[in-house]
Amino acid sequence: MTATLESDRRADLARVLAAVPTGLLIDGQQRGAADDAVVTVENPANRQPLLEIADAGEADALAAVRSAAAHQGSWATTAPRHRSGILARAAELLDRQQEDLALLITAEMGKPLAEARGEVAYAAEFFRWFSEQAGHISGSYGLSADGGTRILVSRRPVGPCLLITPWNFPLAMGARKIGPAIAAGCTMVFKPAPQTPLTSLALAQLLAEAGLPNGVLNVIASSRAELITGSMMRTGALRKLSFTGSTEVGRILLRVAADTVMRTSMELGGNAPFIVFEDADLDVAVEEAMVAKMRNMGQACTAANRMYVHAAVATEFTAELTRRMSGLVVGDGLQPETQVGPLIDAASQLKVRQFIDDALDRGASVAGIGSVPDGAGYFCAPTVLTDVQPGSVLSQAEIFGPVAAISTFTDESAVVAAANDTEWGLVGYLITENLDRALRVSEAMETGMVGINTGVVSNPSAPFGGVKQSGLGREGGAVGLEEYLELHYAAIPVR
Ligand code: NAP
Repeated sequence: MTATLESDRRADLARVLAAVPTGLLIDGQQRGAADDAVVTVENPANRQPLLEIADAGEADALAAVRSAAAHQGSWATTAPRHRSGILARAAELLDRQQEDLALLITAEMGKPLAEARGEVAYAAEFFRWFSEQAGHISGSYGLSADGGTRILVSRRPVGPCLLITPWNFPLAMGARKIGPAIAAGCTMVFKPAPQTPLTSLALAQLLAEAGLPNGVLNVIASSRAELITGSMMRTGALRKLSFTGSTEVGRILLRVAADTVMRTSMELGGNAPFIVFEDADLDVAVEEAMVAKMRNMGQACTAANRMYVHAAVATEFTAELTRRMSGLVVGDGLQPETQVGPLIDAASQLKVRQFIDDALDRGASVAGIGSVPDGAGYFCAPTVLTDVQPGSVLSQAEIFGPVAAISTFTDESAVVAAANDTEWGLVGYLITENLDRALRVSEAMETGMVGINTGVVSNPSAPFGGVKQSGLGREGGAVGLEEYLELHYAAIPVR
């Protein structure tokens, strides 16, 4: 990167950071925490502080709930076309501000700038999609089977929602929830992840610019998640929880949600199998494995966690994947040559190291390992391991790092059984040129989603979500809106 380009980009980031609101957004007002608490957000590529922002405590969280509850009635009665217009303008603003938001995402989360730009485009598409859905919220009018009652069914907003998101897609995870909530007419309290709150604060500002009324979206960044979410959920004023994060935290929140019988949408962890059959096009297999493994430095719920490769093609596939992974440029995502950014924090870096050591202790071998730059960032070298044993932690838990864990198979039904031998069921990938096999294996996979000859399943027009302990409900597609709507039925006797 030339010195001029580097200093231009740093100057752009400084300008973007200076425009990020640093307070809590409650009832349309920026405010500090009631106890004046603040947290510092850091850049994982160099551990340098980016900004200090307000850190919500219990009193602030309860104020946010009161705001969401107070505005629910008026917001629910706005015309669907009005809400659709706000979402359409938000999509346009995201398109226009793509470069600035991408800089912010890269600075606080670490992903390479090219991937951050892709995330902004993906988030914009959610707003566009739900803008198109908002005007089509329908009902029905029918007759009971005995002919004695008219059945009038309508859909109405579920009510004030609590939205909780992780750090790995700071913009898209919020957009996937805020888009349908606006379309349905729900007010919101939004708690972003403490590692990446800046993008959410910038998004809230953008939505206000798009015309979202004060109090509809309340944003409370906080380092005290457990304390504040419990207090908010027990008020009874919030009627829905939409959570994206780990299965472990999802279980805790489901228990809390049970106390006030809240509607829930849970987008939880994954342990995706990536199966390469002997009839696969190996160029496609390697290309799609790179995408499914390396997106977001491997820190995606959809990441290919376990690669099962047929013994007949394993040597060729492994050699090419190793060549590609070892050659990736790891570094600060703000530099244009970077293909792999840092992991999110020291704990993630240590966890991935421990997973690799455990796999090696159990008999795996290193097929190839890339290099990392010097410096303070949480970098992790892209690594390919072969002969990974089923008992390894790598096979049983989310790796969330740039490590490809390969094992071989020879029998279709055995590999399907191995793929399904997990508590998770978010997504599975299969690479084959045989249509019958593609459909047979896809149907046998215990996952909410399957990628056939592709490493990408995420699409705003499609229902994203998992089965088993990967979650409840779906985000995106037409059903993404249903998650924020309640059915209402009126009985009218035929007289
Ligand atoms: P996480 O530790 O579960 O945290 C997710 C969010 O929950 C954060 O905002 C976190 O804030 C909050 N949180 C944690 N403990 C809480 C508690 N006791 N009460 C209330 N809130 C709490 O997950 P993460 O490390 O941020 O994200 C990675 C995980 O998300 C992976 O498992 C990944 O598979 C999953 N994910 C799933 C999808 C999907 O669509 N299925 C998409 C993306 C990511 P604090 O950190 O402050 O506690």
